[in-house]
Amino acid sequence: MNSNNKNIPLIDLNRVHQHLFEEFKNSIDTVIKNNSFVLGPDVEKFENEFSGFCGASKGVSVNSGTDALHLALSAAGVGPGDEVITVPFTFVATLEAIEMCGAQVKLIDVFEEDLTIDINQLEKAITDRTKAIIPVHIYGQVARMQQLKEITAKKGLFLLEDACQAHGAGEFGIKAGALGDAAAFSFYPSKNLGGFGDGGIVTSSSEDIAAKVRYLRNHGQAELGQKGYHHIVSGFCTRMDSMQAAVLSIKLKHLDEWNSQRIKVAQQYNDAFKDLPPTLPVAREGTKHVYYVYAIRSDKRDSIREALSKRGISTGIHYPYAAHLLPAMVHLGYKQGDFPVAEKAANETLSLPIFPGMSQQEVDKVIESVIAVTREV
Ligand SMILES: *Cc1c(COP(=O)(O)O)cnc(C)c1O
Repeated sequence: MNSNNKNIPLIDLNRVHQHLFEEFKNSIDTVIKNNSFVLGPDVEKFENEFSGFCGASKGVSVNSGTDALHLALSAAGVGPGDEVITVPFTFVATLEAIEMCGAQVKLIDVFEEDLTIDINQLEKAITDRTKAIIPVHIYGQVARMQQLKEITAKKGLFLLEDACQAHGAGEFGIKAGALGDAAAFSFYPSKNLGGFGDGGIVTSSSEDIAAKVRYLRNHGQAELGQKGYHHIVSGFCTRMDSMQAAVLSIKLKHLDEWNSQRIKVAQQYNDAFKDLPPTLPVAREGTKHVYYVYAIRSDKRDSIREALSKRGISTGIHYPYAAHLLPAMVHLGYKQGDFPVAEKAANETLSLPIFPGMSQQEVDKVIESVIAVTREV
């Protein structure tokens, strides 16, 4: 069958996994033979590799990006009575992690231009109770971290990157993971770096934060080498599996190449769509956008989506609801109209297929179809 007639998925993990099958099998065999399944040498090796990749001195792995956010906040001392500022244009986990600490979620809107935190609204949102800020590097585009760092340093606030969509992204030559006081990454399978199940990591250059995350993730146990079963605080059970670490170590070696492939597809989309009505994503000057998501924006989003689907092109919506309007978050007390930029984006964004291993034919077909469809609707 001519691949022109095949449906084009939003993402196809097989394209990258098929080349690495033998390597995965061998590494999993080794984990089985080593009889070390949770934490252990493979996990430590991956932690060092990933934090090194980011340029952060410490990496402490956990079982998800959500847990990485939660434990990083806990390690910074965030708890009941504190406020944490973040944005409504994100995956719900950013807000959940704040609530897991017993802290209060406080939202401010995002910039229209790139949907990252609107730093102009930040200072007036900060109160005596504010303890931390979580900028979200949405779609793989980093927030304005240099400016955020100036504000948080001045006010003594903890700056936690939600880098769950931003493995390998950066600003002014510094990578996500090393742009704040700490960062949380997810290794959910579909992320730019994903395992064969759930996983996550906290990176930081603070020994104190890393040490606290390390014992919080493992039932509050003091580190190995010290007395076993010596629980210094009541913690959590959120450790990384050795198999995930082994798989992630293999995949990390290819991350830069895979990100380059995403960027190349994004550049072709940008060039092809520059005169069309839909608004295109922006990679800010001085940043490296890694296009976890390539989202166009149109007030005719739903008709474009339907027409693309008829042509065999899968699309996604990240995300169809601004977080403050989710039933799960009504208790925060926000209402429709509170964050107009995020709300409008939720109605307009449409994610196009973008993934490493995408063929030129597929890219061309998406381009051709988007051009045709935006004329029709
Ligand atoms: C994926 C994601 C998370 C949560 O990661 P999990 O590993 O699924 O827990 C948090 N924030 C953002 C922005 C994400 O995209």
